[in-house]
Amino acid sequence: MAIATETIRKPKIRHTQCFIDGKWQDAASGKTFATIDPATEETIADVAEGDAADVDRAAKAARRAFDSGPWSRMDARDRGRAIYRLADLIEEEIDELAALESLDNGKPVKDARAADLPLVIDCLRYYAGFADKIHGSTIPIRGNYFSYTRREPVGVAGQIIPWNFPMLMAAWKWGPALAAGCTIVMKPAEQTPLTCLRMAQLAQEAGIPDGVINVVPGYGPTAGAAVVKHPLIDKVAFTGEHRTAQIIMRDAADSLKRLTFELGGKSPNVILADADLEKAAAGTAFGLFFNQGQCCCAGSRVYVEDKIHDEFVARLTELAAGRRLGNPLSLDTDQGPQVDQAQFDKILSYIEKGHQEGAQCRTGGGRSGERGYFVQPTIFSGVTDNMAIARDEIFGPVMSVLKFSDWEELITRANDTFYGLAAAVWTRDISKAHDFARRVRAGTIWVNCYDVFDAAAPFGGFKMSGQGRELGEEGLKAYTESKTVTIAL
Ligand code: ADP
Repeated sequence: MAIATETIRKPKIRHTQCFIDGKWQDAASGKTFATIDPATEETIADVAEGDAADVDRAAKAARRAFDSGPWSRMDARDRGRAIYRLADLIEEEIDELAALESLDNGKPVKDARAADLPLVIDCLRYYAGFADKIHGSTIPIRGNYFSYTRREPVGVAGQIIPWNFPMLMAAWKWGPALAAGCTIVMKPAEQTPLTCLRMAQLAQEAGIPDGVINVVPGYGPTAGAAVVKHPLIDKVAFTGEHRTAQIIMRDAADSLKRLTFELGGKSPNVILADADLEKAAAGTAFGLFFNQGQCCCAGSRVYVEDKIHDEFVARLTELAAGRRLGNPLSLDTDQGPQVDQAQFDKILSYIEKGHQEGAQCRTGGGRSGERGYFVQPTIFSGVTDNMAIARDEIFGPVMSVLKFSDWEELITRANDTFYGLAAAVWTRDISKAHDFARRVRAGTIWVNCYDVFDAAAPFGGFKMSGQGRELGEEGLKAYTESKTVTIAL
């Protein structure tokens, strides 16, 4: 089939500098770093390596834009319209942006086109509609007073994002920040800076004033840490590893910045014998292998009821083995490479641990090909709760299947992790589904589905999986301060 094997043309690289105060600028140090095509291990482009000096310029620009620029004084409806325009411009360029995301990150272009980009556009539109609906309340306090609250923007938002959904993570952070009237200093992940830079250009074309969105590409301990420590930045929103969040929390202590974190997970995905097994198998494979397994909410602990265990593992194995690995820019590719050498090495070391700890490898179990960071879709069965592959976040296409028979024990095992991002259960038993939803300590519970995201539905973690929520109205509140005004009458 000619269409199925079509390969998308490589996108043009338009922006590689820092975007500060509406201008493209080299890093103050003049340094650059290479962003790599994970499918070929070749350099795509050299990008400005921002550090503390650039973050300082960006923070000052964002502060000016917040304190005295037109953005904070703009009518909320006009602010909303600017965000709508940004969404429209992204939609006009959807194919080009999907290709750029695919090239820089390694994700199949068909996934970027069908999942990432539509979610980006939807998220921006959702928050655009919120811009003129942010309001406080009147409060009947004791005495002869009139008391009310205002919801005001938190100020300058520092935003540090990972590489697994580069544009989507930018949209999750820009949408609520812009709607609230904040200004932004964003540090994209060093692995994937290109689409965020392109979005900044589109934001300018959409009429978002200079200084409102600033993007400083660079590394975490330099540019990222500078965002966290900068005294002119009021809040930091971070998505990444819990260990990085711990560093950020310490670094933010001096200025007591507001912090929101969306971190990792080791999410349990539970299949009961009464489930629709065909749907459950497809959803379970999708819940783990989507995006090369590089999802913070990946269903990586798959608990299967003993009665159906062997049959279900056989179904999963067939689905995993049938995944087509290859050039992410080919339209028939299901799985691209992992994002970089470090992730690739880490995943292979976990596969090795799985073998050493005595789990049974049903399919995959190694790299694929000689070039690029491709890892075979891998399934281990016979996994027990204490194995490293059952406890640690692998962030790759490695599924651990565990067996269970008793419901109470299953709930205890599902909760036996310091993470708490997501969990899923597949069953026709509505009581069990509700019991699971109530008792499993995680920020998102899916029943008979997996990875269902919507801009309106809050997302975030219990325990070490995060702090605060993104998306929905809760996500917007994280970019506002509440002010109480009391007037003697
Ligand atoms: P991952 O392992 O997925 O790359 P990280 O938590 O290391 O997760 O990275 C997520 C984001 O955090 C990236 O943009 C990275 O550059 C940034 N980062 C890493 N270390 C720090 C740090 N010490 N301070 C601030 N940001 C950091």
